[in-house]
Amino acid sequence: MRDETKSAGFSSSLIPHPSSLRVILWDIDGTLIRSARRDAFKDYTVPVLKGVFGTAGRLMEMTVSGMTDLQIVAEALRDEGFTHEQIRERLDDLRTRYMLEMERATSINDGLFYLLPGAREVLEATARDPRYHNALLTGNIEPAAHLKMRLVGLSGFFDLPGAFGDESHDRRDLPALAAGRINAQLNLDLHPSQFIIIGDTPNDIACARHFGAKAVAVATGRMYPAADLLPYEPDALLPDLSDIDLVMRTFDAL
Ligand SMILES: [Mg+2]
Repeated sequence: MRDETKSAGFSSSLIPHPSSLRVILWDIDGTLIRSARRDAFKDYTVPVLKGVFGTAGRLMEMTVSGMTDLQIVAEALRDEGFTHEQIRERLDDLRTRYMLEMERATSINDGLFYLLPGAREVLEATARDPRYHNALLTGNIEPAAHLKMRLVGLSGFFDLPGAFGDESHDRRDLPALAAGRINAQLNLDLHPSQFIIIGDTPNDIACARHFGAKAVAVATGRMYPAADLLPYEPDALLPDLSDIDLVMRTFDAL
């Protein structure tokens, strides 16, 4: 059982001490949701790249788990002569077309994304506990992240600003961006170790390490079973989010 005395103690005071606060930074794909098919993202990403750059490059051959959308674009176009700067220059066009294609794809197939077991219940449990805040830290471009959360009914859970895949081609840059925004909004100076990054790939663990956050790995992605995440030494490794008490005890211990 979870240590209820601890959470009861905190919930009885309106404002927990800042040192007891924990911000959970949630990855989306493979952690909170999954797409119905492995390569569903290619349905909307290929036409976007063709529209903006005239080619989708090597996207069709790529596996992209844990990569930011900017990184995916850069990798796909690696052999086509586009620099990171040239890709960034077209970011507005890329974002606009991406959302048009994604909205088209999700209107044709409203079951394109589904919630992973326990995701909603864990978010409900953290939202009830005044020690916890939730925010997104995802490789998705920001409007795509919000669309996915809206489609699966999780939009209301993220009370703090996050960081997104249109902000860097390197996921390791994202935690500092999120933390800066979060500290500004809360008017606090939370220590990096008060952030818990939860995700399904080695890149999620690496970006937590890079910033000094705690890393929780969850083995619900398509690419990395638990045995393949373990060597990256996350602070905790969960099979999935379905055991709410286990997940909350894991967060409480970090
Ligand atoms: Mg993921």
